Amino acid sequence: MGFEGKVALITGGARGIGRAIADELAAGSATLAIVDVLKDVAEATAADFRSRGVTAEAFVANVANLADVERLFDEVIARFGKVDILVNNAGITRDNLIMRMKEEEWDAVIAVNLKGTFNCIKAASRPMLKARAGRIVNIASVVGVMGNAGQANYSASKAGVIGLTKTAAKELASRGITVNAVAPGYIQTDMTGKLTDAAREAFLTVIPLARAGTPADVARAVRFLCSDDAAYITGQVLHVDGGMVM
Ligand code: NDP
Repeated sequence: MGFEGKVALITGGARGIGRAIADELAAGSATLAIVDVLKDVAEATAADFRSRGVTAEAFVANVANLADVERLFDEVIARFGKVDILVNNAGITRDNLIMRMKEEEWDAVIAVNLKGTFNCIKAASRPMLKARAGRIVNIASVVGVMGNAGQANYSASKAGVIGLTKTAAKELASRGITVNAVAPGYIQTDMTGKLTDAAREAFLTVIPLARAGTPADVARAVRFLCSDDAAYITGQVLHVDGGMVM
């Protein structure tokens, strides 16, 4: 599982699941490009990694903006020379029932979760194609497969991420680049901290393993898909959800 000499760019890497992914990759000696919209949060996380001897730098970008993402990749490549691993983890929720969902709520979630993933794959594809190697892991969601009342925007964005993953896998496979998705279930983070107690209870009743997942549960699956051991796996969706979807 060694990532010595590999550069990993993780969007939304400053906290939550993204930070746990950064931890896993750093444990395998990857160099980290921590990307976030908030400068202070990204800087603090990168500084924390550096204090533990990891080569890590913070980069600020809004993944929803293609020009910003192109600038981001230029900056990361200027700093570290390449991008071997891209983890598209940045994501937001703006929940509402369809009837009440505002246009801005729909647009914001599609822009960050789906277009943001597309933007980063587009920017990564040129350097990875040139290198004839690369690993891309997109963070989808169980909700992109099952749907969830109140999350039309979010579930559509994550279902879109799954389709995008398969197309990118087909387009990039001939140059040794793999593209996979990880679909987490109910994971304890700030995002799910906003759920009501009733919603939390409802989730637990449909999880065969009868517990919420941790960011580390998700991160270990991402680490595997980024490793040499997963060289012959592409276009797949790995569910990390305690058995919610089978
Ligand atoms: P958090 O809200 O804890 O973290 C999301 C991260 O994404 C933050 O670091 C945030 O930055 C960053 N981010 C948000 N918008 C942008 C943007 N426009 N550009 C760049 N970065 C951005 O979420 P989680 O850790 O819970 O979720 C991570 C991923 O996992 C998401 O894609 C989510 O949809 C997915 N997921 C989560 C599940 C869960 O149960 N928690 C279940 C299934 C999937 P900032 O700190 O600056 O706000």
